[in-house]
Amino acid sequence: MSNSHKLALFGGPKAVPETLPAYNPIGLEELEAAKKVVESTVLSRFVGAACPDFNGGDKVNEFEAACADYFGVKHAITVNSWTSGLIAAVGALGIEPGDEVIVSPWTMCASATAILHWNAIPVFADIDPDTFCIDPKSIEKNISPYTKAIMAVDIFGHPADMDAIREIADRYNLKVISDSAQAPGVFYKGKMAGTLADIGGYSLNYHKHIHTGEGGILVTNDDRFAERLKLIRNHAEAVITGEVVEDLTNMVGYNFRLGEVECAIGLEQLKKLSNAVKSRQRAASRLTDSLQHLNGLTPPIVAKDCTSSFYFYGMIVDFEKLGVTRERIAEALVAEGVEGLSTAYQNLHLLPMYQRKIAFGSKGFPWTSDICHRKVSYDKGICPVAEKYQDSCYLGLFMCMKEYRDEDVDKVVAAFEKVWRNLELLA
Ligand SMILES: *Cc1c(COP(=O)(O)O)cnc(C)c1O
Repeated sequence: MSNSHKLALFGGPKAVPETLPAYNPIGLEELEAAKKVVESTVLSRFVGAACPDFNGGDKVNEFEAACADYFGVKHAITVNSWTSGLIAAVGALGIEPGDEVIVSPWTMCASATAILHWNAIPVFADIDPDTFCIDPKSIEKNISPYTKAIMAVDIFGHPADMDAIREIADRYNLKVISDSAQAPGVFYKGKMAGTLADIGGYSLNYHKHIHTGEGGILVTNDDRFAERLKLIRNHAEAVITGEVVEDLTNMVGYNFRLGEVECAIGLEQLKKLSNAVKSRQRAASRLTDSLQHLNGLTPPIVAKDCTSSFYFYGMIVDFEKLGVTRERIAEALVAEGVEGLSTAYQNLHLLPMYQRKIAFGSKGFPWTSDICHRKVSYDKGICPVAEKYQDSCYLGLFMCMKEYRDEDVDKVVAAFEKVWRNLELLA
């Protein structure tokens, strides 16, 4: 066997010898845009009172108009992070203490903590084995008399099955939130992911396809929700005068405002979104063309009439069939120079906070309080697919922070092929 076939783990040459170029969407356009704002000295123009500046300055308004146009919605509302956006969304829908919101466990923790934030109770439904998104069948099984909303997450950039989710929501009179943090510019049956819920939106943090450092964009077609989102963003309780807004539910306001510099940068970033997504799609399809031939490996599945932004490239591997542990294969791939590899994502219900039911204070609020209508289980076993993936067969490649030109993809493929050729040596 020639030396080039020897695993890097055993002293052979790496299949990916150099660090892949970092994906950097920030360029001269952003620099120029930010500079103009700084020179103007108006870095934010928000005022937390009933006046025109309640809606922020010029760049906030320009960026929101550009987002509304791009995503094809009536209202786009910027916030200082998508975590803030999720909190505002749950609040704006009028979720009350003790209400239950059904959410996926296979997501970033903020999807569920946004629910807890209003003293509502997250109920975890299992995921679809193909898309990693919440499974509508499991949603329906988890509906109780106290369920008020569904939080659908377009995880890894693949849209959740919104038609099925909407059908259930209509039947049980539930609201729908779309956490499309990882899926800006992605399509579900010809429509933009994020825009198919009552309220949806995207993250603009540094690790996403486009970013403003930190930030988020809420989208909705509902005038009333838009008004409530803007109030929660900007000190609602100080702004409301009885005659302007009648509904005081969840109007304890925050400061979730995004600044002028970020919005000026966001305007430039938005122009780059479609290409950023296309380049991930191109890399992913090149990866899949080769990796699909590897024994026991299932590349990401894109559902019919959907596109994905491939924030993560999520694979399922039958390690048992291969006779090698996941950890050993990951070790070999990392030694070959494969970057961004992970052997786990999330099972939120198994985090200590849910296991011990300790959120606010030390006495188990909200679960132990009278507002909680019933005992909700976070036991292992409630989400068998998500748990199985986490425990034994998920393997992910974080694609968003790297450039992945064709030649880079080919090196990553070479690393996988080399490891797969040498499975016996790893067993
Ligand atoms: C990134 C992310 C968030 C949080 O967004 P921030 O802007 O970092 O607060 C929420 N949900 C999902 C699925 C995410 O990927």
